[in-house]
Amino acid sequence: MPEVKRLNSQIAMIDIDLFGLKEYGSVYVVQGKKAALIDAGTSHAATTIVDALAEIGINDLEYIFVTHIHLDHVGGAGLLAHRYPNVKIIVHHRGARHLINPTELVESVKAATGSTFEYYGEAVPILSEQIIACSGDEEFYLGDDIIIQTVATPGHASHHLAFFEPKSASVFVGDAAGLSSRNRLLPATPPPRFDLSKALDSLKKLKELNPKQLLYAHFGPATDGVEVLDRYAALLPIWIQRVNRISDKIGVEATVKKILSELTTDDILFSEEMTLHELSMSVRGVLSGRERS
Ligand SMILES: [Zn+2]
Repeated sequence: MPEVKRLNSQIAMIDIDLFGLKEYGSVYVVQGKKAALIDAGTSHAATTIVDALAEIGINDLEYIFVTHIHLDHVGGAGLLAHRYPNVKIIVHHRGARHLINPTELVESVKAATGSTFEYYGEAVPILSEQIIACSGDEEFYLGDDIIIQTVATPGHASHHLAFFEPKSASVFVGDAAGLSSRNRLLPATPPPRFDLSKALDSLKKLKELNPKQLLYAHFGPATDGVEVLDRYAALLPIWIQRVNRISDKIGVEATVKKILSELTTDDILFSEEMTLHELSMSVRGVLSGRERS
């Protein structure tokens, strides 16, 4: 049975067992008169999501909002678009073409992840008629006073969107506010295009919404949204300085090794393997950004 947790009368969370782990990947269901999904997980998550939706009495979806087109957020969208032929996929306009033809996207993940690609799985193409390309500041009405607003939040990726639900003052942050577990945060600064100043501007924009809670893709809700956004905005420049300082003396691979060797047990979120995976990506993202500038 998929794990579904109701967060309030409109929002429920599904644990998608990302990479076979509990409490690592979450997608959310928002219900007005119509229902929407926030993020779609990998293609391996599609069956879990369909079963979880059926469990809470949802047999059709109006929208799937994707925060960004990394495969752990959008890999399952193609299968879900086939399963719910009326659903519309909401995505940043820069990401839209990669959902219509995911070949390039899948190839880039294969190249970046090597043997761990099987965790992500393939992505199925989505019909262009099912896609609504956005740039931020759009509103989608689900009925019963439930609105979802798109918020352009570049930084983690240039095409990142967050989604705001005003009634409960919740922000679905995707990866724009890092990774969160047990009230601890890790940086999410991956290649190929992490951009610090855009990421900080995005956090400021989210803070102006005065969110009560942040709903993370990795993982679950974080209460006291403004405080968590402040904490992440403070953490990012320190993280980047640290990576740059170490890499001044040694190469990329040695920097990854050194950062990982300095982890304490407090730094381990999700699992040791996933913390190493996420942080090694985040080191590479900082250093690839420096090569560009
Ligand atoms: Zn992610």
